[in-house]
Amino acid sequence: MLTEKLFEKDSYLKEFTATVLACTEAGGEYAIVLDRTAFFCEGGGQYGDGGVLTADGITARVRETVPRQGEIAHLADAPLPVGAQVTGKIDFETRYRNMQNHSGEHVVCGLIHARYGFDNVGFHLGRDYVSLDINGVLTPEELAKIEEDANGVIYANVPITVSFPDEDALAAMEYRSKKELTGEVRIVTIEGYDRCACCAPHVARTGEIGLIKLLNPMHYKGGIRVFMQCGSSALRDYNERQSRIEAISHLLSAKQEDVVAAVERMKNELSEARQTASALRRALVEERLAALTETAGNTLFFETALDVGSLRLLVNGAVEKTGGAVCAFLGSDEAGYSYLMASRRYPMRTAAKAFREALGAKGGGSDEMIQGSVQATRASLCAWANDYFKEETV
Ligand SMILES: [Zn+2]
Repeated sequence: MLTEKLFEKDSYLKEFTATVLACTEAGGEYAIVLDRTAFFCEGGGQYGDGGVLTADGITARVRETVPRQGEIAHLADAPLPVGAQVTGKIDFETRYRNMQNHSGEHVVCGLIHARYGFDNVGFHLGRDYVSLDINGVLTPEELAKIEEDANGVIYANVPITVSFPDEDALAAMEYRSKKELTGEVRIVTIEGYDRCACCAPHVARTGEIGLIKLLNPMHYKGGIRVFMQCGSSALRDYNERQSRIEAISHLLSAKQEDVVAAVERMKNELSEARQTASALRRALVEERLAALTETAGNTLFFETALDVGSLRLLVNGAVEKTGGAVCAFLGSDEAGYSYLMASRRYPMRTAAKAFREALGAKGGGSDEMIQGSVQATRASLCAWANDYFKEETV
C-alpha cells in the first residue's frame, strides 16, 4: 500500500478525496491508511498534519499524521470502513504556519550555508517551538546580519518551486541535503538563493513567509542552536511579548521604553531595603538578648520579623547567656513555624525525637542544636516546650 503524497506536489491543497485502504486500532486511536493524502506526514523534524476525514456520515478527527510500518498513518479518533470513499480536510491554519516556518528555515540555512559552509544538523518544527542546530558557531553580529538578509529574501518575494529531477540532472545539481538520498529526490528551490532536498510543503513565494525572527542563540554541541519565529508564529510571539511588556510596564508604572531603567531602580531599592531589614533584625536580636537575665533558665521566643540566620544568632546568644534550653519559633499559627532549639545541657537529638512524636515536627540536627519546621499552634508549642524541658531538667 503506497499512499500518493498529494502534499508533495501541491502545498495549498486543503481538501481531497481518497479511498480507505486500512484501518487498525492502536492505543485508543485508529490508524487510517489512504490511497492518497494531502496530510503531510511527520518527517524531517516537522510534525504531521491534523484535520478531519469524513466517510459514510462518520467524521474522524485526525490528531496527527505519522509514518508507521512503512505507511502514512492518519491517527484518528474514529474508525472508517475499509474501501470507503473519504473526504479529507487538513487543518490549514496550522499547516500554513508550518509552511511559513519551514520555508523560513530554508532561507536562513541557505544563507548560512552559502556564507559560512555550515549546515542545519537538527531541525525541530514542533507545536511548541522551532529551532535550528547549526554545526558551526556564528557570532550574534553574524546572526543579526543573516536575519537582516533573510528578511531581504522575503522582500524580494522570489518563487519557491518543487522539482523531481532525474538522476543525471540531480548528479549535475548542487543542493543541500541532510543525508545521501536514493530514489526520487524532491528538490525545493528558492530562486537565486537556495536549493535543498526536502519532503515538506512550502509557501509559493518568499513574501508569504512574512517575517523571519531569530531568537535566543546558544552554544550547542560545538555549534549553535537558534530559535526562530516566522510569519503568523512571529506575529503571535510579538503579541505575547507585547502583552508581557504591557503588564510589566503597568506593574512598574513606567513607560514601555523606560522599563529597564525602572527595574534597575527597583533592584537598587530592594537591595537597600534588604540591608536595612538585615540591620533591623540584628538590632532586634541585640534587644532581645539584652532583655534576658543570666538566670532566665529555659527560654522561649516567638518571632515574626526575623529570618533563619538572625534566629540562629538569637538562639546562640541566648544559650551563651542563660545556659538553659532555648526554643525559637519563626512564623504563625496559620503558616506554621520554622524552629531552632539549642542547649548545652539537654541532648537535643532526643528532644527532636520527642518533638516529632508529640507535634509531628520535621527536622533534626546535632545534640547541641536542632532545626526544622512544625505545623502547630503557638499555645501547643509553648505547652510542649515548657513541659518537655521541665521534665528533662538535670
Ligand atoms: Zn526542508
